[in-house]
Amino acid sequence: MSDNHYDVIIIGTGAGGGTLAYHLAPSRKRILILERGDYVPREKANWDPQVVNVDAHYNTKESWLDKDGKELHPHTNYCVGGNTKFYGAALFRLRKEDFGELRHHGGISPAWPISYDDLEPYYTQAENLYQVHGNRGEDPTEPPANAAYPWPAVSHEPRIQQLSDDFARSGLRPFHVPVGVMLDEKNPHKSRCIRCNTCDGFACLVGAKSDAQVVCIDEAIKHSNVTLLTNSLVKRLETDSSGREVKSVVVERNGSVETYSADVVVVSCGAINSAALLLRSTNDKHPRGLANSSDVVGRHYMGHTNSVMMAISKCPNPTIFQKTLGVNDFYFGSKDFEYPMGHISFVGKLDAITLKAGAPAIAPNFTLELMAKHSLDFWLTSEDLPDPNNRVTIGRDGKIVLTYTPNNLEAHERLKDKLKQAMKQTNCTMHGHECHQGLFGRHLYVGQQIPLAGVAHQDGTIRFGHDPKTSVLDPDCKAHDVDNLYVVDGSFFPSSAAVNPALTIMANALRVGDHLMKRLGVSSKDYEQNLRQDRELAVSR
Ligand SMILES: Cc1cc2nc3c(=O)[nH]c(=O)nc-3n(C[C@H](O)[C@H](O)[C@H](O)COP(=O)(O)OP(=O)(O)OC[C@H]3O[C@@H](n4cnc5c(N)ncnc54)[C@H](O)[C@@H]3O)c2cc1C
Ligand code: SF4
Repeated sequence: MSDNHYDVIIIGTGAGGGTLAYHLAPSRKRILILERGDYVPREKANWDPQVVNVDAHYNTKESWLDKDGKELHPHTNYCVGGNTKFYGAALFRLRKEDFGELRHHGGISPAWPISYDDLEPYYTQAENLYQVHGNRGEDPTEPPANAAYPWPAVSHEPRIQQLSDDFARSGLRPFHVPVGVMLDEKNPHKSRCIRCNTCDGFACLVGAKSDAQVVCIDEAIKHSNVTLLTNSLVKRLETDSSGREVKSVVVERNGSVETYSADVVVVSCGAINSAALLLRSTNDKHPRGLANSSDVVGRHYMGHTNSVMMAISKCPNPTIFQKTLGVNDFYFGSKDFEYPMGHISFVGKLDAITLKAGAPAIAPNFTLELMAKHSLDFWLTSEDLPDPNNRVTIGRDGKIVLTYTPNNLEAHERLKDKLKQAMKQTNCTMHGHECHQGLFGRHLYVGQQIPLAGVAHQDGTIRFGHDPKTSVLDPDCKAHDVDNLYVVDGSFFPSSAAVNPALTIMANALRVGDHLMKRLGVSSKDYEQNLRQDRELAVSR
């Protein structure tokens, strides 16, 4: 076997690829991880809103096209850890019902080929791995779990606690958002996380966010059987003459082309880039793109309908870490609207610098600085439904084309109304019902007026299912058409649900990892023994 042959190649180091690499590392199998980006440099600018939010310094400079051929600059990051380096680390399980068929105002959200119960043990593992802080039993839509969260919830700061109390008095059931930050509130002097105001959207300068680099890749590459190559852009996957096996992975690295091969190839480039990679890998056995006999690759793109809503109050909001409160009372509908509406939570605290570039409508008698001081900055998520015409394709010049027509919008409008009503009912001790001035919408992705560019929650483009005519992957996330090709990023989602996707991607990567371990002949006894040896070795070092 050549030196360039591995047992497993994993392409991409984000929530899917990073988690899988971590899980497979103790197997002693030869694993190659290929990542197009580099490490995010550790520098003070990591926490600078001007550099991060206004200059978009860490975003890819790549441009894509929308359906009209207009350029868009995607808000996405190519680096070790993928988009988890910049995520807000709100780590939710999908609801049990999200795995079944759900009727929405805009149509049907289809069932998954696996049930919530199939994924439950892996959700627990993922919550432990990513050190999720939360309180079970508060969220009224929370699915059943077999274990407590490994860490207690991150506490609300006073303004958020006041809002939580107000919401509860008006009959809502607000809860603590489960988050993956390494905060130890009982031992603040030892806590790795310092609870700062530059978390959501920023890379953590002190390595205290549970991202896929810190938690998974840094650990995986401690194993001598794991190799990580950064700045390694996978351009194509080539098959053998039967078309049933990926034979080589073609990589552009340091200006030259290299090829690698493996018994198993796992694609995890994020839902848009994974689809693009398969579509670019055409050959005579796969004329529409690799593993695309169904013509489903790239279709059913989903990204959630998201809004940032600033609620400007007379009371100031000096909160530092704002992403602690969630409301799911309208997730499945309400008395006056029987369809699912979605999820309400927070973005990180907005500041004047970010607002200046974002140019929201100004609240009467407020400057932007005052708005930033007084705003509660909500994040609203509603489910968008899988539409085969919402898709990733490759343009004639090789650029990614993202065609998307929003759907199920009534649900999102209703959710906004629900938040408005809830805010009107707040009753502060200083200003009574008059405390709250109004809600102001704002594009989160500053300097980029096209909302389509906000691809943070991308999924669905390489869906899994039982039927090879309507899905690309089988329930183990192996391509129906190719025997050694798997996909473990957000592409596999048949529906997008309305909570943040990363924990489900991580849990699924662990599930697929168990399947791969069996395929590669690694017994759980050997795996456990390897883990014990690894731990002993780590202690003796
Ligand atoms: C600002 C922001 C905030 C977010 N907040 C949250 C949150 O609070 N909670 C949550 O659940 N989700 C959140 N998300 C979304 C979350 O980060 C993603 O759902 C998750 O990272 C997706 O994982 P993935 O494995 O599908 O892809 P990614 O994490 O994007 O990883 C894909 C990797 O593949 C690499 N790659 C791409 N193409 C190639 C190629 N051809 N060759 C080699 N490598 C390649 C990329 O560089 C990247 O490292 C947020 C995202 C952003 C941007
Ligand atoms: S809040 Fe904690 S985890 Fe987030 S960036 Fe700040 S120190 Fe890092």
